[in-house]
Amino acid sequence: MDVEVGDVAQQAYTGALPQWSEVESLVEAAHRRCKAETAGVVADYIPVLAEADPDWFAVCVAEADGSVHTAGDIDVEFSIQSISKAFVYALVCEAHGHDVVARRIGVNNTGLPFNSVIAIELNDGHPMNPMVNAGAIATTALVPGDTRDEQWNSIVFGLSEFAGRTLEVDHAVYRSESETNQRNRAIARLLESYGRIDPDPLTVVDVYTRQCALRVTARDLAVMGATLAHGGVNPVTGRRVVSAGVCRDTLAILAANGAYERSGEWLFDIGLPGKSGVAGGLVTVAPGKAGIGTFSPPLDAAGNSVRGQRATAYLSRVLGLNIFASQAHTPFAQRKDHP
Ligand code: GLN
Repeated sequence: MDVEVGDVAQQAYTGALPQWSEVESLVEAAHRRCKAETAGVVADYIPVLAEADPDWFAVCVAEADGSVHTAGDIDVEFSIQSISKAFVYALVCEAHGHDVVARRIGVNNTGLPFNSVIAIELNDGHPMNPMVNAGAIATTALVPGDTRDEQWNSIVFGLSEFAGRTLEVDHAVYRSESETNQRNRAIARLLESYGRIDPDPLTVVDVYTRQCALRVTARDLAVMGATLAHGGVNPVTGRRVVSAGVCRDTLAILAANGAYERSGEWLFDIGLPGKSGVAGGLVTVAPGKAGIGTFSPPLDAAGNSVRGQRATAYLSRVLGLNIFASQAHTPFAQRKDHP
């Protein structure tokens, strides 16, 4: 249902970002303050991920006007993993529309881990939401294209448009996960048995595994997030990737499901839609304002980067980004310098 809201919708209801130089120094501060955090464990269920350096740490904010602020290991590439789910979902929504995708994939949190089989059984074979593996595999099955190659090309092209540069597969990660993804293959077969996916399930899992192996940096994640924050137009390239309505739908899904069974705590602490990946990436979106990308491999028990969450919580607070705030954040002077 569309509601006429007039001019209110044009305003960033929690105020504007601080000045460019303040954002710059707060990104540095987020990195400095969270660097010493040592909690969390690097994922090893995909064997090659265990080789990650636990000290890697990068923070990036990409503003909706295209300004980018970085700190730390910003050039280190890592596999996007589950963060791809958010952007593939947006592409599928763009292709099939709000209602079809909501009905077939769902929007509700399972309250269970990302790779839960029980969640499928408890819900009559329904994949529940596109941010858990069952829903993500069912979403990848809906990517436009008649063949595996056509679907793959749609994904690489679409995610590269979100990032503003051509993304490439990390072949070591793809191989390592392909050799050990029996569980995802089982999930896809289970969905097939319930009539929830049409194409060959193992072909879909292969495309899904490749999408998870795309290499990104924290900067890429921030720009991808900023594209969702900016109504679907990449603020760096100026090119439209998806519609504003698709961004709104995707952000609602992220708010409810982006940190799996910890999504409630995430929303309570950070107050923004976000999505984590098991290689240590994290993307967070402040609608109308900015995307935040972080990278740090040690994870909490649900599979979310520990340092990434801390840095994002800090930035949400000091930049005044929490979407549940009803007043503009005032500690900073109104933004005026813009190089
Ligand atoms: N490729 C991973 C998997 O399917 C993604 C999981 C994640 O990042 N949480 O298991």
